[in-house]
Amino acid sequence: MDKRRILILGGTTEARDLAARLAGRTDLAITLSLAGRTLDPAPQPVPVRSGGFGGAEGLAAYLRDEAIDLLIDATHPFARQISANARSASQAAGIPLLRLERLGWEETEGDRWTRVASIAEAVAALGEAPRRVFLAIGRQEAKAFDAAPQHHYLVRSVDPVDPPLDAPDVEYLLARGPFAVEAEVELLREHRIDVIVSKNSGGDATYGKIVAARILGLPVILVERAPAGDGHHAGTVEEALRLADHLLGTFRKRGV
Ligand code: NAP
Repeated sequence: MDKRRILILGGTTEARDLAARLAGRTDLAITLSLAGRTLDPAPQPVPVRSGGFGGAEGLAAYLRDEAIDLLIDATHPFARQISANARSASQAAGIPLLRLERLGWEETEGDRWTRVASIAEAVAALGEAPRRVFLAIGRQEAKAFDAAPQHHYLVRSVDPVDPPLDAPDVEYLLARGPFAVEAEVELLREHRIDVIVSKNSGGDATYGKIVAARILGLPVILVERAPAGDGHHAGTVEEALRLADHLLGTFRKRGV
């Protein structure tokens, strides 16, 4: 029997976990796609391809050339371009698309969150008076905080912020999660942080800073996700496994 071919768009823990769960299946051939941004990516359990496809058209051409049966978009909740490309490419290639997007964090007692819709709004939400800010949003959008140079920033990212910020008072910290709560409390204390800026990424790996903020009574400016679009959605790897089988089955029956 021909193997069914799945392309997983990854760069997340969920993508790696999903790939690991599918890797042993003899009826499937899995490829994991990474953007190729991280200088030293974590090892992956299935064959990997790396680098952009060349927009939605490039991705659609890849899907056709590689005879992909199912596209799984397991990219980060804030990687918006590749998710838009996945939607149009799956349509153009006539194959099903499954979006695996981990659930966002929910505010709980003791949290002091200000929810904003964009990084620009997060910059504005810091206000005029100088503050000591822990910037935990990754490196790609950190430059936006040059617009508020009066604050002190502690910027944490996996790879260096390049080019660095122009703001005058910035400290950089290179680290890759998961981050434990105790270590996060210690970090916030040591740097005398008084506000945290984070994306509502969801998941456990980076939740430590949110818990640490709650313990210390610190405010968090939380950048929310764009609302989910139409289509097949899974919030967990388990759900994605079920839906993937369902979609591959439906797809075969229709004989597309
Ligand atoms: P993006 O803005 O949505 O994507 C920009 C371009 O990068 C895409 O148009 C595509 O290039 C390429 N690309 C992105 N993900 C890809 C993938 N998995 N495989 C192949 N090409 C990919 O994405 P981003 O925010 O830069 O994120 C890049 C990667 O980092 C994603 O894989 C994402 O899962 C991961 N990540 C992002 C964040 C975040 O906060 N944004 C956090 C953690 C991890 P072409 O148009 O040339 O195909």
